[in-house]
Amino acid sequence: MKITLIAGARPNFMKIAPIIRAIENAQQSGKDIKYRLVHTGQHYDDKLSKIFFEQLAIPTPNVNLGAGSGTQAEQTARIMIEFEKDLAANPTDLVIVVGDVTSTMACTIVAKKMSTRVAHVEGGIRSFDMEMPEEINRIVTDSLADYFFTTSEVANKNLLKSGVGEHQIFFVGNTMIDTLLKQLPKAQRPALWPEWNIVSKEYLVLTLHRPSNVDDPEKFAEWMKVIDGVGLPVIFPVHPRTRKNFSTLKRQPANIIACDPLSYLEFVYLIKESKAVITDSGGVQEETTVLGVPCLTLRNNTERPETVTTGTNEMVGDNFEALHAALTKVKSGNWKQGAIPQLWDGRTAERIVANLLNLPFAKPK
Ligand code: UDP
Repeated sequence: MKITLIAGARPNFMKIAPIIRAIENAQQSGKDIKYRLVHTGQHYDDKLSKIFFEQLAIPTPNVNLGAGSGTQAEQTARIMIEFEKDLAANPTDLVIVVGDVTSTMACTIVAKKMSTRVAHVEGGIRSFDMEMPEEINRIVTDSLADYFFTTSEVANKNLLKSGVGEHQIFFVGNTMIDTLLKQLPKAQRPALWPEWNIVSKEYLVLTLHRPSNVDDPEKFAEWMKVIDGVGLPVIFPVHPRTRKNFSTLKRQPANIIACDPLSYLEFVYLIKESKAVITDSGGVQEETTVLGVPCLTLRNNTERPETVTTGTNEMVGDNFEALHAALTKVKSGNWKQGAIPQLWDGRTAERIVANLLNLPFAKPK
């Protein structure tokens, strides 16, 4: 069985690393399974791409499509044009896409138009917020894909409701958590730690990159003001999308310490040791749940509701007062404990590959 695995942006790399490892393990035990890794080049900054290949021991991609940055349409178009050529030159039995980035959607459309099967890892999750580019990527991808590897029962229900058949859905857990659990013992104290002058459990971590939080300078400035008022150091690895509006803030925050995006092993250490995390990231909501660290999500909705119902996540919404109240609660130490969602056990990729090998077209004739 020949597989083409797609990755394009930072949150994809944590999701493909364990799948590659599981495929290689299956090969070693004599299974007929091969893969080709395609990097679309959606993220090309070393700090958002190269470092993850090194730290997560992901092999060098067979090809980099060099999509680069641009508007949603420009990126989608470039990825589609280049992937169409690549897939024509390298036919495959199955294209695997992960997550909800532009590459996920663009490569799914190309593959299906070239009559190639698609499996979506992390299929079925929905924020029901059409203002999020990722929600559009999810809906398009899931309306075309043939197989769905899901992280939650809620995702299964969303897919069934949209007409997907039960035989197409495999509830396997979360590959991002496979990576977290494997890499946790190797987590690295950030090189900048001494300079930050912080103490474990007495600082917060902040990540923000969703257009709804960072693109409007006034709203972004208001978030910064409330967070700065917390009275604890806040480490803020600034996503490239957020850089401009952070550097042009009229009032420079006193407690917020900005830095470049961190490597995975440093970031995991930083959140593990923190008092709480403030974020609008999808993956970080999941990682904090597994680490048992309070998570305050600056969004009105989440496509990962199990992090709220089971885990340590709380939705703050678009509400500055609510953030202030949540920060007071964090400081008082009065946050829910949380538990780990079903099947987020570090063995998801193994289950994915076992299911792949069982698909009808994968069986020896
Ligand atoms: N992350 C990282 N360094 C950072 C910030 C985040 O390695 O400075 C990791 C984080 O641990 C998680 C992933 O990046 O695994 C989340 O990516 P992002 O927030 O860009 O995407 P989303 O999950 O929102 O799609």
